[in-house]
Amino acid sequence: MAINLYWIQAGGCGGDSMSILNAESPSILEAREDLAIDILWHPSFSQAPPAEHRSLLAGLLEGRIPLDILCVEGAVVRGPENTGMFDTYEGEPKKELIRRLAQRSGIVIAVGTCASFGGVTGAGETDAVGLQFSKKTCGGFLGQDFRSGRGLPVINLPGCPLHPTVMIGALTALTRGLEMELNAFNSPLEYYSMLVHQGCTRNEYHEYRIEETDFGQKGCLFFHLGCQGPMAHAPCNKFLWNRRNCKTRSGVPCIGCTEPDFPREDPYFYTPNIAGLPINLPDGVSRPHYLAYKSMAAASAPERLKHRKTEV
Ligand code: SF4
Repeated sequence: MAINLYWIQAGGCGGDSMSILNAESPSILEAREDLAIDILWHPSFSQAPPAEHRSLLAGLLEGRIPLDILCVEGAVVRGPENTGMFDTYEGEPKKELIRRLAQRSGIVIAVGTCASFGGVTGAGETDAVGLQFSKKTCGGFLGQDFRSGRGLPVINLPGCPLHPTVMIGALTALTRGLEMELNAFNSPLEYYSMLVHQGCTRNEYHEYRIEETDFGQKGCLFFHLGCQGPMAHAPCNKFLWNRRNCKTRSGVPCIGCTEPDFPREDPYFYTPNIAGLPINLPDGVSRPHYLAYKSMAAASAPERLKHRKTEV
């Protein structure tokens, strides 16, 4: 029997949908067939006229049509003054639609950082939050006790945009009933336990503190250019984008877009430091050890690295 999936776009740019269209091996269409998913509605991909959508939505809300998976893309917009009228569907605040659909759904997936934690939309003036988190705080729009029909919290798949491989992988695990271990932010550990730094081709430069001051150069982007790779949990250096590249491989610092506090208030492309020592150190590293290790590492850097003779 087909698994029904309904997709709603809330406060966001639609970039996650664009990202998922780039999925390869399998593509989203192949995955849909392999996993027997019936995409009842997607605002960008569906061609049904508005009247048909209206009737589908009524069926879902009344429980006449079963809803197995609800995908929410974008943050839940609550403003102005908690009316939700900044983001509506046919005059009704989308936030109420999201609440009612979530109550009917077997699984709820927050697609992207805005839906997960508020993200860029949450940083604006629309009083927008994630489905079950507001930045790092559990609660968000649905509340920390929310559980979907299958007894799960909202499954958060952050990323700005979300990586298509993560979306297909999570859908596969959820539809096939495979075990999915979640981290403290209810994101699958399979994809969000690793750091962007792990697998970065500039790692050797990082070890010896060979640092760059401009984009596109060969060394590490952490010490001057604000690379968030050592703090950001995401598989961008494991599953490349378009199976080819990612920010750090092309010489642009990671901006930490999967983290609950994205977008950070710190300036981007700059590393806040005290006497040359970054204020934010790689995840889990102690400051005194880092200070001792990095000054020794810089002094012992191999010539081939100092002269940028290594390919990245
Ligand atoms: S560029 Fe960023 S991710 Fe790559 S090694 Fe340097 S700090 Fe780590």
